[in-house]
Amino acid sequence: MARKPTYEELEQTKGQGERLDPWFVEAVMSYVPKILIVDDDPRMCDSLKVLLGNEGYEIQTRRNGQEALEALVKNDFDLVLLDLVLPDINGTEIMDHINSQTAETLVIVITGHASSDSAVHFLKKGAFDYLRKPFEYEELSKTVRNALDQKALKSERKRAEEELRKAHDELELRVKRRTAELAKTTEQLKLQLIGRKQMKKDLIKAKEAAEAGNRAKSEFLASMSHELRTPMNPIIGMTKLVLRTDLTPKQRDCLSVVESSADQLLALINDILDFSRIEARRLDIESYDFNIGTMINDVEKIMKLEAHEKGIELSCLIDKNVPSLVRGDPVRVKEILTNLVENAVKFTEKGIVIVRLSLDGETNTHATVRFAVTDTGIGIPNDRLDSVFESFTQLDSGTARKYGGTGLGLAISKKLTEMMGGRIGVESKEGKGSTFWFTLVLEKRTERKAFHYSTISDLNPGVRVL
Ligand code: ADP
Repeated sequence: MARKPTYEELEQTKGQGERLDPWFVEAVMSYVPKILIVDDDPRMCDSLKVLLGNEGYEIQTRRNGQEALEALVKNDFDLVLLDLVLPDINGTEIMDHINSQTAETLVIVITGHASSDSAVHFLKKGAFDYLRKPFEYEELSKTVRNALDQKALKSERKRAEEELRKAHDELELRVKRRTAELAKTTEQLKLQLIGRKQMKKDLIKAKEAAEAGNRAKSEFLASMSHELRTPMNPIIGMTKLVLRTDLTPKQRDCLSVVESSADQLLALINDILDFSRIEARRLDIESYDFNIGTMINDVEKIMKLEAHEKGIELSCLIDKNVPSLVRGDPVRVKEILTNLVENAVKFTEKGIVIVRLSLDGETNTHATVRFAVTDTGIGIPNDRLDSVFESFTQLDSGTARKYGGTGLGLAISKKLTEMMGGRIGVESKEGKGSTFWFTLVLEKRTERKAFHYSTISDLNPGVRVL
């Protein structure tokens, strides 16, 4: 092998999966190792100097221990070929000196006199290898190469370890920094969470305060409407009485205006009273047995006259399977139904208003009854269908002017239906008419068909209802 290893030779020195560091390759390829030969035999010194020098090493020779020690102090040798038997100093002393140095100098012990025991002694002391005189030059050359290769590898490993340690320290520092940042972020998040919890508490408080305020307002409205209603009765009553007396046409006209305005005002006050009572939770839903047919009959009686005055037909139909006797709050059911029929009549100029009761579902104990009011009136535009159940909603000011009303009827109906656990809705086509409906789950009572009313199945198919 040449003095400096080839790249391929270096390749063979690396472990499996390892990569040769270019720095290492460069360093090994350009480095000239220094060797010190210590031997009192001048021929040996000279011949080894020539032979090893030819292999490209930098060689120094010393003939005695003292000179060798001085040379070792002045230079960093990579390798010492050390004859154990010297004229002045024992080889052991030189070994001790080398071991005490920081420079990593390898030693190959050469002697013809030492026993194999002392060889072991020197190997234990850290000598790289041991050669007994006489030896073949080839053997020496190989041992020297091995020693230098190992030294180079060892220093490369040390350098790599140093780099690894630096990288590790750097990583640890970064981890520490990140941990500190994380702790800070966690702390900030905790603070945000506390803030958010507090905000939620504040919001709940504010909501409760607003609700309490709203209830107080509704209670005030409820009692105010009650106070307002009381004087309305004498106003309306006395106006009606005076209207029955002899009056000039002018007086009659004026009083008629007073009468209709007072009626409107009373209706408005009644609606506000109902609405505010519901809002203030002062309205209770009752529960007792009632006959559905009788209730429908009442609504029909109230509304028929008004409908006929407008030239509109009002028809009520109850499907045969709808139970006649049920348990619930007939006053509230009637209120909702009357409101829907009133609207149907109000917003229909000609045609028909049909009230139809059908069975949406049934269990052994309960019936889901659907109340539907269909008219052939002005209808509702699609985009306004959702808003008609909101309080104080009228489709437009024109409607309000033409038909009057408060915009509270449907809002009250919705609230009442929901208080009874039911649902309310509308289907409509502008210009064609509407169907307002609500469903209620009512407890069935035993006496079925207590009240006979005209039912859909009583009609011949194809026969026109009007
Ligand atoms: P109002 O006292 O004004 O009738 P409602 O709450 O009962 O108040 O109705 C709200 C609005 O819904 C009405 O002003 C009207 O525009 C519309 N509406 C209600 N019922 C009908 C119907 N049957 N046909 C057409 N429009 C209707």
